[in-house]
Amino acid sequence: MDDQKKTSRKRRGTLARAEAYFIAHVGEILENKTLRDAVGGTSDSWTRRVRELREKLGYKIRTHLDRPDLKPGQYMLEDLHRVPVVARSINKKLRAFILERNGYTCGSCGIGAGDVHEDGRPARLQIGHVIDASHGGTSDPSNLRALCSLCNEGSSNISPARQSQSQLLAALRRAKPDDQQVAFEWLKKKLGK
Ligand SMILES: [Zn+2]
Repeated sequence: MDDQKKTSRKRRGTLARAEAYFIAHVGEILENKTLRDAVGGTSDSWTRRVRELREKLGYKIRTHLDRPDLKPGQYMLEDLHRVPVVARSINKKLRAFILERNGYTCGSCGIGAGDVHEDGRPARLQIGHVIDASHGGTSDPSNLRALCSLCNEGSSNISPARQSQSQLLAALRRAKPDDQQVAFEWLKKKLGK
């Protein structure tokens, strides 16, 4: 067996062990060291496997960046529901097109790229399906939209609730002139002349 084949077989082994370990400990806070002991491999290789579980297989593995109750070096597989992975079929150009078309805001809760969620976490925009792939949705631009990571991963219960029109207008009336100006500029840009 050549070296490349050996490496790839080893990689799949680590990935499968990491997957099985997270599934067996769903909902538990797992320490960096515990995981490394259970999964094996160098710490560099298994952090890459964790990333693959998240990004390629769609497992909701959380870190301190996602949940305020986790400390750096802790992980948690939140539940066994996997997020449909769109990224594979969407190239950079299409991603940029969708973000631009959607004004760099989440199509569900309206948070902007660079804004912070109520709990202080920065909003990360992802590309999500309008109609889920499991229900026949395609990766055609018409079926894609920008979504923040919270909305995309179905955690909309912890994202800001959609405001009613009157609440929104009230908030704007109460806002400082500076902030009203920002809102005005944003609306002008969004709605055209
Ligand atoms: Zn959102």
